[in-house]
Amino acid sequence: MSIKENLAEIKMKLPGSVTLVAVSKTKSIEDIMEAYNAGQRVFGENKIQEMAQKWDAMPKDISWHMIGHVQRNKVKYMAGFVAMVHGVDSLKLLKEIDKQAQKHQRIIECLLQVHIAEEDTKFGLSEIELQELVGSQELLSLENIRIVGLMGMATFTEDKDQVSREFKKLKVLFETTKLALPQLTVLSMGMSGDYDIAIAEGSTMVRIGSSIFGNRN
Ligand SMILES: *Cc1c(COP(=O)(O)O)cnc(C)c1O
Repeated sequence: MSIKENLAEIKMKLPGSVTLVAVSKTKSIEDIMEAYNAGQRVFGENKIQEMAQKWDAMPKDISWHMIGHVQRNKVKYMAGFVAMVHGVDSLKLLKEIDKQAQKHQRIIECLLQVHIAEEDTKFGLSEIELQELVGSQELLSLENIRIVGLMGMATFTEDKDQVSREFKKLKVLFETTKLALPQLTVLSMGMSGDYDIAIAEGSTMVRIGSSIFGNRN
């Protein structure tokens, strides 16, 4: 099936309230343009330099989302255009995004990445770290970032109950975090292999790559 057909099929399954981030990492401008011409306007990349090159080459009404791990020294390369950063996992990183956004007189939307997978990965805040960050007085002075939600990745497993459990945990954290930060609206969870489960558990934003563009090398 073509990219256009894949997109149409996925869109049919998504509730209207769920935003689709088309994950275009490693894919060519030609492939991304095919999705663009089919009406897709939100794209996700996991490497800052690759995203910056694509931003440069593509129409300017695209909303670019950084979904990968962010190194602080590279924030400056995306601060002029990035719409949302999904992988924020420290106050230090938030401060850097704020500082660079300020240089461009922009506000960058940020999601706090939470570690929900039972498998061990080094990315994402623990529950305690999330609470600490959300409660930090220093957040109040950051005027060029806006924390709009949470992001998480489930364990890569065939065990649907486990995936469901992990997404449920993130949804609960989302609701409790909202008590401190009522402005939260985005719950970014779900990829090609598990977005149906994520939606059932309350996702408002799915990040889908291979089901749209085909497998990556
Ligand atoms: C690559 C990636 C995706 C998309 O993965 P697919 O399985 O191709 O849909 C989603 N989220 C993050 C953080 C990724 O790095």
